[in-house]
Amino acid sequence: MQSFKIARVMGIPIELHITFILLLILVYYFWDIGGFILYVFLFTSVVLHELGHSYVAKKYGVHIEKILLLPIGGMAMMDRIPKEGEFKIAIAGPIVSIILGILFLGLSTFMDFNILKIDNMVYPLFMTVGVLNLMLGVFNLLPAFPMDGGRVLRALISHKVGYLKATKIASTIGQYLSLIMLGFGIISLNIILILIAIFIYYGASQEYHALLSHDVFNKIKVKDIMSEDIVSVSPDDSIKDLVDLMFKYKYMGYPVVKDGKLVGSVSFNDIRNVDENISVKDIMKPPIVVSKNMDLNDLLLKMGNSERAYVVENNKLKGIISKTDIIRILKLLGLKRYEDNENNKK
Ligand SMILES: [Zn+2]
Repeated sequence: MQSFKIARVMGIPIELHITFILLLILVYYFWDIGGFILYVFLFTSVVLHELGHSYVAKKYGVHIEKILLLPIGGMAMMDRIPKEGEFKIAIAGPIVSIILGILFLGLSTFMDFNILKIDNMVYPLFMTVGVLNLMLGVFNLLPAFPMDGGRVLRALISHKVGYLKATKIASTIGQYLSLIMLGFGIISLNIILILIAIFIYYGASQEYHALLSHDVFNKIKVKDIMSEDIVSVSPDDSIKDLVDLMFKYKYMGYPVVKDGKLVGSVSFNDIRNVDENISVKDIMKPPIVVSKNMDLNDLLLKMGNSERAYVVENNKLKGIISKTDIIRILKLLGLKRYEDNENNKK
C-alpha cells in the first residue's frame, strides 16, 4: 500500500493513501477549485473524527501507528482495542463529528460562501460541511460493524451475552444493513451506496472472523500441537554428521543438546555455504524456548520470524514446534469452521 505522510498530530502520523490523492485530482477536474476546497474541509473533518478515537485510545495506553485516509474514509490504526475502553474509544469519533456538524451549521447562519454548483444546485461551504459531518456522526452510530456503533453496541451488551456473541450480533446486523443498502443502491442506481454496502459487508464479516480466530487460538496449547519425536545433535558433531542426519530424518531443524540440556538450534538454512569441517557449536543459534501450557497467540508472538520453538520443562527438552505444524493446525481449523457452517445450515 502506497501512502504519503502529510502531518503529525499528537505524535500520530497522518497519511494519504495514493487512491485518496487520485480522487482529489478527479474532484478538482470535475468540480474545480470549489470541489477541491470542500474536499479538503471534509477530509480534515474525517481526520478530526479519527483523532477523537485516538485521543481517548491513548489514555488507555493504545499505540496508534498512523491515521490513514482512504477514499472511503479514515482509519486510525491501533495495535489493539482494550475491552474496558472500547465504549469510550468508539463513541469519541461520532461525538467529534456531531459537534463539528453543529458548529459548522451554526457558523453558516452568520456567514457562508456558495462554493460549488452541481446541476443548478448551489452548495454553501459551511452548511455542506456541517450537514456532512452530522451524517458522518450519525451513520457511524449505526449499531453494526464495521461502524463505530458496532463497537458501542458490543461494549454495551458484551457483559450480558459475552464478547464473542456480542461481536456476532453486531456483525450480523452489519451484514443485513449492507444488504438493505445494496438493495437501495441498485434500485436508485447509486454507485456510491453500492460501494459502501460492499465495504460494510466485508468489514462486518472480517470483524467477527478476526475475533473468532483469536478466541480459538487462546484455546490451543503448545502441548496439543508439539511434536515429541525429538532427534537432537551434539554441539561437537561435525557439519558432515548433521548433513547425514538431515538426509536420514528429513527434518529441517534440530535441537542441539549437551548433557541432557538444550543449548542451541540448527537448521538447514544455517549449513548452506559453510565449511564441512567446522562443528555444530560454531553455527548453532540460541533456541526459542516455550512452555507447554502457552497458548497459540503467545506462541506466535514469541516465535516471531523463527522457524521453530522448543518446549522445555524442568530443564528437559519435551517437544518441538515448527511453523509447518502451526500451518497444519490452521488448515485443520479452516476445515472445522467450514464444517460448523455446514452444520448450522441444517
Ligand atoms: Zn469512527
